[in-house]
Amino acid sequence: MRTLKVSTGEQTYPILIGRDLYARLPEWLRSRGIGPDRPLMLVTDTHVGPLYGEKVAGPLRAAGYRVGEASVPAGESSKSLEQLSRLVEEGLRFGLDRQGVVLALGGGVVGDLAGFLAASYMRGIPFVQLPTTLLAHDSSVGGKVGVNHPLGKNVIGAFHQPLMVVFDVSTLRTLPRREVVSGYAEVVKHALIADASFADWLLRNSERLLRLEPSLVEEAIWNGCRIKAEVVSQDEREAGLRAILNYGHTIGHALEAASGYAGLTHGEGVAIGMVGAAMLAEALGTARDVVEPTKRLLQAFHLPVHLAGEWPEEKLLELMRRDKKARGGVYAFVLPERIGSVRLVRGIPEEAIRRVLRRLKS
Ligand code: NAD
Ligand code: MG
Repeated sequence: MRTLKVSTGEQTYPILIGRDLYARLPEWLRSRGIGPDRPLMLVTDTHVGPLYGEKVAGPLRAAGYRVGEASVPAGESSKSLEQLSRLVEEGLRFGLDRQGVVLALGGGVVGDLAGFLAASYMRGIPFVQLPTTLLAHDSSVGGKVGVNHPLGKNVIGAFHQPLMVVFDVSTLRTLPRREVVSGYAEVVKHALIADASFADWLLRNSERLLRLEPSLVEEAIWNGCRIKAEVVSQDEREAGLRAILNYGHTIGHALEAASGYAGLTHGEGVAIGMVGAAMLAEALGTARDVVEPTKRLLQAFHLPVHLAGEWPEEKLLELMRRDKKARGGVYAFVLPERIGSVRLVRGIPEEAIRRVLRRLKS
């Protein structure tokens, strides 16, 4: 097992990464001050619950904890006020009180939703993240929780740090292949923004990582979480530095939104977005030799590096002007300086972005 500590202004919490960890949850909860007198509410989804719900709840019940269970339909559409309200209802029926603790078992959808439940339920109760997707190495660290609104993704939310994160990598075995590949895009992102030697290591081990060899996956997740935690610790509320975590996301989000969140996964969008950002940096002369190594690393994880098919350029530009980093209609991008280092650049000329979008198609 590997461990990490995340320090934020208010608290410090552990991230535990390893195999077959759920049997030790009672011990770790007690060490965080949560004894069997505290009601626990396990929140999961319809894919993950049948696979791992009992693995989590069983040992806790055996240790004397009272565990309520609630499941939401698998998928992004469950990150909604409707599901939040239903979970509140289930919590009240179960007897979840101010002493209660929420356990979020699943991918980023469950983590964000159950985390927001914990942030808002009776003005806030603790929660534990039990991530089960590769992408969730990203979403479970940093304390951002929330739900979507029909008019926008993640527009209702809060900052609420978990009590701890327990990442059992054994659960990744059942993750669909496309989710595995997509999750690696964020691992690669963490390497590209902060750690060139981690990027080298990923390139050398990509095939074994794609096969989900446990000790390697643990190491990859540990490094990804470490980099995210370092950035978040320095900028918990996204005043500045945290923006670098958005590397690849300006183009990526625009592609996701333009494809109606159906054509491309988040990771695929971010992969193409990182290639685009590297092209932009080379075109603006702020970096050299970043496009090819970026492509090579992404392709090693079977991620896309080109835009296939037709994309509406004007629509993409409009979406990028609305990106949260943009201000007053001026484009802002996180651009590489070299492999392992990026910075936020404002005032990118539109013509340069148009050229990159065309280059991404070839
Ligand atoms: P997800 O939670 O929808 O999981 C993807 C799919 O895999 C779902 O169908 C799920 O049921 C299934 N699944 C999960 N674990 C499984 C397992 N071990 N075996 C089999 N199937 C499994 O999606 P995700 O990619 O994990 O997360 C995406 C969400 O994360 C988005 O809503 C995004 O906004 C959010 N996110 C949040 C942050 C943050 O900082 N809070 C950061 C990045 C992403
Ligand atoms: Mg992302």
